[in-house]
Amino acid sequence: MKTLTVSVVTPDGPVLEESYDMVSVRAESGELGILPGHIPLVAPLTISAVRLKKEGNTDLVAVSGGFLEVRPDKVTILAQAAERPSEVDTERAEEAKQRAEERLNQTKSEDIDFKRARLALDRAINRLDVAK
Ligand code: ATP
Repeated sequence: MKTLTVSVVTPDGPVLEESYDMVSVRAESGELGILPGHIPLVAPLTISAVRLKKEGNTDLVAVSGGFLEVRPDKVTILAQAAERPSEVDTERAEEAKQRAEERLNQTKSEDIDFKRARLALDRAINRLDVAK
C-alpha cells in the first residue's frame, strides 16, 4: 500500500518526519482527510490536532495554526508551534489557559487583547486535548 511522507516543521526546527497511510487536519475551510495520491493543495490550518494514521494507530500533533501543503506523496505542515503529546508541558498549558480565561473576563470582545486571549486559550486547550 502507498504511503505519504509527513513532515511537520516549525521555526525551531522539524518536529516530525515519518510515513503514514492517512492524514486528517482541520483547515480553516473544514476537515480534510488526505490519502496518498491526493491532488496538490495548500490550505491554512486552524489551532487543532493533526491526526496521522499508520497500520491502525493514530499519532497526534498539536499545531498552532500554520499551513498545509499537499503533494501526491508528501504532506508538509508549517506551523508557528507544534508539539507531540509527550512534548506538551501540561502544567504550562494549564497556566496559559488560566491566564487567557482571566484576560477574557477582563477585556471586551472588540478589544485586540480579547482576540489574543481567545487564541491563547485555543492553543492551551488544544495542547491539553492532545496530551490527554
Ligand atoms: P505560553 O503562554 O505558555 O508561552 P503560548 O501558547 O503563548 O503559551 P506559543 O507562542 O504557541 O506559546 O509557543 C512558543 C513556544 O513554546 C513554541 O516552541 C511551543 O512549542 C512552546 N510551547 C508553548 N506551550 C507549550 C506547552 N504547554 N508545552 C510544550 N511546549 C510549549
